[in-house]
Amino acid sequence: MSRRRQLYEGKAKILFEGPEPGTIVQYFKDDATAFNNQKRGVITGKGVLNNRISEFVMVRLGEVGIPTHFLRRLNMREQLVREVDIIPIEVVVRNVAAGSFAQRFKMEEGAALPRPIVEYFYKSDELGDPLVCEEHITAFGWAAYPELDDMISLALRINDYLSGLFAGVGLRLVDFKIEFGRLWEEEDVRIVLADEISPDSCRLWDMKTNEKYDKDRFRRDLGNVAEAYQEVARRLGILPEAGPRDLKGPEMVQ
Ligand code: UDP
Repeated sequence: MSRRRQLYEGKAKILFEGPEPGTIVQYFKDDATAFNNQKRGVITGKGVLNNRISEFVMVRLGEVGIPTHFLRRLNMREQLVREVDIIPIEVVVRNVAAGSFAQRFKMEEGAALPRPIVEYFYKSDELGDPLVCEEHITAFGWAAYPELDDMISLALRINDYLSGLFAGVGLRLVDFKIEFGRLWEEEDVRIVLADEISPDSCRLWDMKTNEKYDKDRFRRDLGNVAEAYQEVARRLGILPEAGPRDLKGPEMVQ
């Protein structure tokens, strides 16, 4: 018997009803998909690492004043988050040309951009997440102009903060995708960061070697996929060097 009611199953996560009204449990799976579901696989341990990495990033962002849906991590694969009404737009921030952007503009992957560029994609598997602009978003009622203003300014603040955070551990934040939700608090509605931030949704390259430490290893069959996710966690200081047995035990007090 299932402990909780399942609300939704996505490609990398399952959402369950939370213990209190207005809360949701996010369960992180090891499943990986790419190219609009055409490529599928399992990255062993990914769910555990993404749960931990996303927790770390959301907590750090919360500390610098970015509102997020994150409440707390519950266990290896689950975290408790606030229930929000997800805005059906993937907001992508890019610092360096890569992936679909490099293809679209026939740019070399790795070319620096003159400034961070924010793009929007409409979340629709049927349409293959098309690139959209503000006109589409507001005309179709996916988000209102003031909400978009909040989303852009939060996205750029998140980019600044995370670029520094990852640079501190020798990783270049090439680009990333985030999602926002509407959080109702009594009469007020505000825009908060939702979903997850992990190597599934960011491009992270080693600052010195340009080695990829993200989902492109899976997308492009580069090998050592799980190891790359582990390395991100290790550099962020949230994974012991040689696995759990490397954890220091409690200090003896005489
Ligand atoms: N991304 C994502 N989910 C998607 C599409 C993209 O998390 O459905 C992330 C991706 O990991 C990268 C950034 O958004 O960090 C920009 O991806 P891009 O548009 O270049 O698409 P891709 O080349 O991954 O198809």
